[in-house]
Amino acid sequence: MNRKRSIALYRRALQLIPGGVNSPVRAFKAIGIPPLFIDRAKGSKIWDVDGNAYIDYVGSWGPMIMGHAHPKILTALKKTAPKGTSFGAPTSLEIELANEVRKAFPSMEMVRMVSSGTEAVMSAIRVARGYTGRDKILKFEGCYHGHGDSLLVKAGSGAATFGIPNSFGVPEDLARHTLTAPYNDLERVRILANQFPEQIACIIVEPIAGNMGAIPPGKGFLEGLRRICDERGIVLLFDEVITGFRVAYGGAQELYGIQADLTCLGKIIGGGLPVGAYGGMEKMMEKVAPVGGVYQAGTLSGNPMAMAAGIATLEILKTKKVYKDLEKKTVYLAERICESADERSVPVAVNQVTGMLTLFFTEGPVRDYATAKKSDTKRFARFFIEMMEQGIYLPPSQFEAWFISLAHTQKDLDKTIEACNTAFKKI
Ligand SMILES: *Cc1c(COP(=O)(O)O)cnc(C)c1O
Repeated sequence: MNRKRSIALYRRALQLIPGGVNSPVRAFKAIGIPPLFIDRAKGSKIWDVDGNAYIDYVGSWGPMIMGHAHPKILTALKKTAPKGTSFGAPTSLEIELANEVRKAFPSMEMVRMVSSGTEAVMSAIRVARGYTGRDKILKFEGCYHGHGDSLLVKAGSGAATFGIPNSFGVPEDLARHTLTAPYNDLERVRILANQFPEQIACIIVEPIAGNMGAIPPGKGFLEGLRRICDERGIVLLFDEVITGFRVAYGGAQELYGIQADLTCLGKIIGGGLPVGAYGGMEKMMEKVAPVGGVYQAGTLSGNPMAMAAGIATLEILKTKKVYKDLEKKTVYLAERICESADERSVPVAVNQVTGMLTLFFTEGPVRDYATAKKSDTKRFARFFIEMMEQGIYLPPSQFEAWFISLAHTQKDLDKTIEACNTAFKKI
């Protein structure tokens, strides 16, 4: 494949934009080749600026569950744009989307719209702290919750209790309020809850982890968190920025039958435009300004274009058979990839939940960050390149989820499996 134009644009971008990209993982650093620059996309396909076509499993990192440039979403945008693209004043579209969100997530009695998942999480944590009057938060190793200061923290080695920032520019004074535990490790959560009584404002968790590769919660994990939070007066915060409207219409909360106190959404609810949302029990959300004293605001929050795209997306997703279809595709892909790897004696662990999947190059099982990290990332890089050469565009890192959309056809899936077959032979 010829990638001359992508390479030329990348060189130019490097001079103007840090690393040539506006979000780090786009730079293909884990692969070691220049990133593709994209020209356009439609349905399950994406085209780079050199005219090469790929079956897309990045899906803009989650939002494009309908596939790209869906006609219903384009129609909604075309109808909304001529009326003006931002007013800084309320519109009926905001009520409509908030109402749909509440219907899907009964635990979200009140909803506030923002412009990104990061903003949703930062705001929800402020609410949890404002509501409880406590400073500490507990997060899980390998979970990503956007780039808010308090969240850019992972566990220190061994027994380290206090968070150590994993980004420069995060004050240690702030990071020490972030406690961390391994994903799926309830015992560790119990120990921390005992160690810091009445100091933990919230436990924040991806109810299905998506940012260290896809890792579903172990049996009883989410139930256990719910119980600990109830016993200790801790706010249970589900970050459903990926899982909301993906694994089920009502997200992981519907799938596993567990209610969070606060929930963050993003990605899918913007239909491909910048949106985030947070919400929860009325008694907590009433702490938010202008009703309460927790300040949070946004010039473009509830933007009419984004609301219209979100509403159009949810209208289609509301039909129940959508998720059956998505589940069938995901299971089909996961099973065939496993079979193919077995035939070639490539050790893999394939984790999947409706609409998301990760092929780990390790024997597995992969159930937390430590086991995910056992993957052979060099082998993944070779696999990624082989797949790209065969017209399959995967997330360019071992520790990401592939996103399956409603637009992926049986032919797409079979072509992907065939490409895996070929790639497994070569890597
Ligand atoms: C993507 C993501 C975020 C951050 O959302 P942005 O819109 O990128 O700011 C937060 N939490 C999770 C679980 C995510 O996957």
